[in-house]
Amino acid sequence: AVLARDLRKSFGSVEVLRGISLEVKPGEVFGIIGPSGSGKSTFLRCLNSLETVDGGDLYVNGEFVGHRFRDGRLHELSDRELSAQRMRTGMVFQRFNLFAHMTALENVVRGPVVVKQTPRIEAEAEGRRLLDLVGLKGLYERYPVQLSGGQQQRVAIARAMAMQPDILLFDEPTSALDPELVDEVLETIRQLARDGRTMVVVTHELAFARDVCDRVAFMEQGQLVECAPAAELFANPQMPRTRDFLQRLN
Ligand code: ATP
Ligand code: MG
Repeated sequence: AVLARDLRKSFGSVEVLRGISLEVKPGEVFGIIGPSGSGKSTFLRCLNSLETVDGGDLYVNGEFVGHRFRDGRLHELSDRELSAQRMRTGMVFQRFNLFAHMTALENVVRGPVVVKQTPRIEAEAEGRRLLDLVGLKGLYERYPVQLSGGQQQRVAIARAMAMQPDILLFDEPTSALDPELVDEVLETIRQLARDGRTMVVVTHELAFARDVCDRVAFMEQGQLVECAPAAELFANPQMPRTRDFLQRLN
């Protein structure tokens, strides 16, 4: 579902992604761990076309991100095509970015109604189903301020799913939450994993990465140092840099 080959990205003279190659298979839950500033968010933003790539190839579900082939040549996508492509990946950020003046249900329904022209009655039925799925049954009419951080983040997850993306991207979805609220959000993501969704999860929650991800990559200074089945990476890291990172956190 994701294929990156020698992906490069710079901000000015600073190369932030220095040749990332990886493959995420359909139905796979792929974790990315690594120190602050290593490029994890930038990589996710490339997957979601929020950043343009400077080099290498990036395919999401067989589509070349940011470009397409026509008449045997590679063309830049128009803004419209880009936003269509972006819709196929759902992103959940550290901060929930809910619309403050809209109810939980309205937050979930807005994308499908406005962007996909889904009939409102249909979008609302689906919105309630998704809110139920993330454990928010009956809280449809609450405004964000009337919800806990964990509940807000679960609304954000339902909102991402409402666009029926092929892939869900999570960027440290629990790091802005009070510790007692982390588990309910992780449990929601765990449930999505059980449902066979393709997901890329950047997380500081190592136990979660170990238990829920199929494979985990350790990123440092814009490179993937090591990538292995989750249990293996944590139990038996091969690279000294991975070992150092894991040890420092223990
Ligand atoms: P964290 O764990 O703290 O979220 P991260 O691994 O997600 O870190 P990124 O946010 O991807 O790291 O940032 C990687 C590097 O790129 C950092 O040095 C950061 O300062 C730089 N960077 C990110 N976005 C920009 C930008 N828009 N302009 C310039 N530099 C940027
Ligand atoms: Mg980040």
